Amino acid sequence: MDTKYIFVTGGVLSSLGKGITSSSIATLLKHSGFRVGILKIDPYINVDPGTMSPLEHGEVFVTHDGAETDLDIGHYERFLNMNFSSKNNFTTGQVYQSVIDKERKGGYLGKTIQVVPHIVDEIKRRIKLAGEDKEILVVELGGTVGDIEGLPFLEAMREMKHEFGMERVISIHVTLIPLIRAAGELKTKPTQHSVQELRRIGITPQIIVARTEKEIPQDLKNKLSLSCDVDSDCVIMAEDAKSIYQMPLNFLKEGILTPIKRFLKLPEFKPDMKEWDILVKQILAPQSEVSIAFVGKYLTLKESYKSLIEALIHAGANLDTKVNIVWIDSEELEKNDELVEQLKYVNGILVPGGFGERGIKGKMKAIEFARIHQVPFLGICLGMQLAILEFCQNVLGIKEANSMEFDPKTKEPVIYLIENFMDQNGKEQIRTHKSPMGGTMRLGEYECNTLKDSKLQKAYKGQALIKERHRHRYEANPKYKEQLEKNGMIICGESKGLIEAVELKEHPWFIGVQFHPEFTSRLQAPNLVILEFIKQSIYAKKQS
Ligand code: GLN
Repeated sequence: MDTKYIFVTGGVLSSLGKGITSSSIATLLKHSGFRVGILKIDPYINVDPGTMSPLEHGEVFVTHDGAETDLDIGHYERFLNMNFSSKNNFTTGQVYQSVIDKERKGGYLGKTIQVVPHIVDEIKRRIKLAGEDKEILVVELGGTVGDIEGLPFLEAMREMKHEFGMERVISIHVTLIPLIRAAGELKTKPTQHSVQELRRIGITPQIIVARTEKEIPQDLKNKLSLSCDVDSDCVIMAEDAKSIYQMPLNFLKEGILTPIKRFLKLPEFKPDMKEWDILVKQILAPQSEVSIAFVGKYLTLKESYKSLIEALIHAGANLDTKVNIVWIDSEELEKNDELVEQLKYVNGILVPGGFGERGIKGKMKAIEFARIHQVPFLGICLGMQLAILEFCQNVLGIKEANSMEFDPKTKEPVIYLIENFMDQNGKEQIRTHKSPMGGTMRLGEYECNTLKDSKLQKAYKGQALIKERHRHRYEANPKYKEQLEKNGMIICGESKGLIEAVELKEHPWFIGVQFHPEFTSRLQAPNLVILEFIKQSIYAKKQS
């Protein structure tokens, strides 16, 4: 397969929306009938983002095959409604690790190992691997042009263009056109410099995507086209939008497909964006609203809940409802009883996943409120574990009920650590408190059997077997199952003896899930349990 490659680089500064640009382009191509793939290359040395602090790096996105990847992979899946894998993201750390491993095994026959050609060759190998069986592969290079660590990737891209020619490799440069407020002027100089920097290393971008907060007039586009030496239809404006899901539509209007078609010599095509268009309209101008309390602890950096926030948007879009998130800091809730009052004004309560003891008492207060006041509740991962702890402490009277995560020696290990478990490939893994960080978690997609007639099974449209993704070390202890069920907390999801979901019998809708449903939610295919949670919250609002 003669895969064609679209490289997306970033200039001027980070956070310009390269991920959204790449996803949008890939979405338009997919909706035009092409077999599209997408790859994110991260220039950092970490082997994967699994051990990076969410405060520093935002969310760790888990793919179905259990890779802990960059949050941009999440955008790719949400836009393209496709599953990606560990093949769709790699880091400098991984590249060096494989080259060094090969060197240690004598794979280079005594040669001196250098950045060029060895590191660059390994980068190209991985890019080509991601493009296998695809007609078009969009490759997003992390970082900003001019960064030292990005150089080997740009060299790989230059070499691929040399190898495959212009018809198979194009380069799109995403840059910023800053607005100088005092003068009310948009400035093109940083873009010119960034393009010059690319040229210096032998890359000429064919298309400029110009991020701006104000419409770029035609004369400025002409100026950019002249100074950056791109065709006049190759300056594509990316104006700030209310919703990221508008971007494919905006790029389409800006005519981005015309030069892509021309450069890559693609046959005539037109994307079908009808359904997408409707969903975007329902995000921008929804018929109704609902309020959901989001009780979390990383509220200063909401990026760490990226997938869940997006999943709520998807559910809202599909229900023509705006989901208003009421952010509640679990630590504040822990300290201040009056904050519980806030929960009286929401239609649903959501407790997301998390690690560590900080803020858990606040989360449990919110769970208790949802349980007692019959507010629709969804607990995810840690949220489910805490729902079980709350139930054990306050309903079953097991005052010392705890998770081994918070007290490894607890007498009542309601949430415990299984030392041996089977990973996705059926390989036995050992985890202990002393295991190094990373590598000991249950990661990726697992099957879960849903209980007949349960609310969980109804949410999943009657499916008896569902697949969802995991990222956790601890599990609910089946030793307590009988006691829980006798008192009204039903185990409604199980996977080979592991407790995957619980729900309350005497409650309109209270569900805890051990998995992370947000990882499989897409704009055009919202996650079903999250969708049902929002539906139930809308229903509760109507009843009140
Ligand atoms: N900290 C819990 C565990 O490791 C929950 C993890 C999560 O919420 N992702 O099991």
